[in-house]
Amino acid sequence: MKTGIATVSISGNLEEKIEAIAAAGFTGIEIFEQDFIADSRSPREVGERIRAAGLELLLFQPFRDFEGLPAPLRHKAFDRAERKFDLMQELGTDLVLVCSSVHPEALGGIDRAADDFAELGSRAAARGLRVGYEALAWGRHVNDHRDAWEVVRRADHPNIGLIVDSFHTLARGLDPESIRRVPGDKIFFVQLADAPRIDMDLLYWSRHFRNMPGEGDLDVATFLRAVMATGYSGPVSLEIFNDQFRGGSSATIAQDGYRSLVAVMDDVRRTEPEVHVDLPAMPSRIPVRDTAFIEFAARGAELSALEAQLGSLGFRRAGRHIAKQVALWQQGDIRIVLNAETEGHAATAYNVHGSTICAVGLEVGSAQDTVDRATALGAVPFAQPVGPGELPIPAIRGLGGSVVHFIDDVSGLSDVWRVEFEPEADDTDGAGLTRVDHIAQTMTYDEMLSWSLFYTSLFDMKKAPMVDVIDPDGLVRSQAVEAPDGRFRITLNGAETHRTLAGKFLAETFGATVQHIALETQDIIATAKTLKGFGFQPLQISPNYFDDLAARFDIAPETLAQLRAESILYDADANGEFFQLYSKPFAGGMFFEIVERRGAYAGYGAANAPFRIAAQKRLMRPKGMPAM
Ligand code: MG
Ligand code: MG
Repeated sequence: MKTGIATVSISGNLEEKIEAIAAAGFTGIEIFEQDFIADSRSPREVGERIRAAGLELLLFQPFRDFEGLPAPLRHKAFDRAERKFDLMQELGTDLVLVCSSVHPEALGGIDRAADDFAELGSRAAARGLRVGYEALAWGRHVNDHRDAWEVVRRADHPNIGLIVDSFHTLARGLDPESIRRVPGDKIFFVQLADAPRIDMDLLYWSRHFRNMPGEGDLDVATFLRAVMATGYSGPVSLEIFNDQFRGGSSATIAQDGYRSLVAVMDDVRRTEPEVHVDLPAMPSRIPVRDTAFIEFAARGAELSALEAQLGSLGFRRAGRHIAKQVALWQQGDIRIVLNAETEGHAATAYNVHGSTICAVGLEVGSAQDTVDRATALGAVPFAQPVGPGELPIPAIRGLGGSVVHFIDDVSGLSDVWRVEFEPEADDTDGAGLTRVDHIAQTMTYDEMLSWSLFYTSLFDMKKAPMVDVIDPDGLVRSQAVEAPDGRFRITLNGAETHRTLAGKFLAETFGATVQHIALETQDIIATAKTLKGFGFQPLQISPNYFDDLAARFDIAPETLAQLRAESILYDADANGEFFQLYSKPFAGGMFFEIVERRGAYAGYGAANAPFRIAAQKRLMRPKGMPAM
């Protein structure tokens, strides 16, 4: 099946767009007229360049304000169409998108529009061209794909067909199931776009806030299912107008687009098995069972400090790698790998970011299936040389150079700790930390959609609603992505300014991703007391916070006293209670969090973030500033 994307979706000049679109894996391209006009090459040269990049020029768009005009405007509209037909022939594409008119003098009337299209169809046929008609959600007389279809049906010309666009249908709340009535061969082209649910003017919403399928709130999969059920076998293409994307990296936006398009086509194939979606087979979304390990790259004094920090958190060195400067620290089911190698991925990550979390390992049913699905979605497999006696652990590149490894039982990869490590301490009960509750990634706000798409397209994970985290120096947006059983949770924190704690972390680590790891305990008070014995120094929370807790919540006085004594933050909602204890920040602003969830509390304590961040910032004030 041909996969396309409109040039308007991508940042950069036309050449940069073509390169990014071809590199991301698309087979076709829609040329948006403005992108062509801004380019200095002739239409023939642009067409040749697109084909030389391995792309088919699927569509030329848009041709506006054509139908329903009174004379003499009507004649002018046909003259304009002939000029665009000339251009299309030079470019080498046979299909033009005509969007429904917004012209103030357009008269309306299905039959009038149908007559116009019948004549346009004859003119297009004389040149071997085709015309597709799309209902804009804000079209003057036609703003519903059902009316556009009626125009096309009555035009009754083989060179006139319908173009459907998920945004125009779904944004107006139209039932996409009505598309099933249209004969598949009369649908000439399909455009997909998602968007966040925002109550605003349709035109403004469409021109600025569209995003990739799966990144927004529209049911693009149901729309595409209805289209594919008609027997449609033409291209499926993305048309995304988004201000943020226009300012982003061409390559990343194109890769996200390809990933989203393949994922939604795969969803349709799985949920509408009767329809034919011509797409290579791939495993379904991968359930993540748990976090298998967290790997730090660290050396020298920072490595020693990290070891001391882990020791104070109750971790013990459980193993030493048979060949590398790599140690395994463990507590409960939490495995932390400290990598001090001077070659390989950890070394590269260390050189870029300083001490950093350079990789994360996930426990999955099948590591090979995971890599296969990731690769089908455009991710790049990651491998480095494997020494004698070592296991080749499948991995992929995440975003921004990060690496994600996959461990399973079926291929014996979960034996890696026994196979590659010489055992040391075996008492790893520590302070009662049992497993990783969540991994918190920090990024710029612009990168959040890319990361959430990465997780939700590859894994069986869902987005939680976006939460605003109030940093004293600016807003941080936080989006959790979670496995259905809550065993694997990621929080994506998007910093809009470098003055926030998250923004400072990005600046000081040159774009590291994981900022904190939250570890679970079943009894946070007992854990806190044990940790004190290990020399753990918790982040000190202001006494005012605890006075306020007493006012906000119905907490038993002795519990409150314990929270105050151990510097434990508290939150509760209708589902349950949540307790948080933080380490002091280390190595450029990373930190550990210890959490206890009681009942079905599913959040992350966003209400506590301002007080935690303020406490962290007190410790991170610039050199030379007096302590207060
Ligand atoms: Mg469109
Ligand atoms: Mg957290």
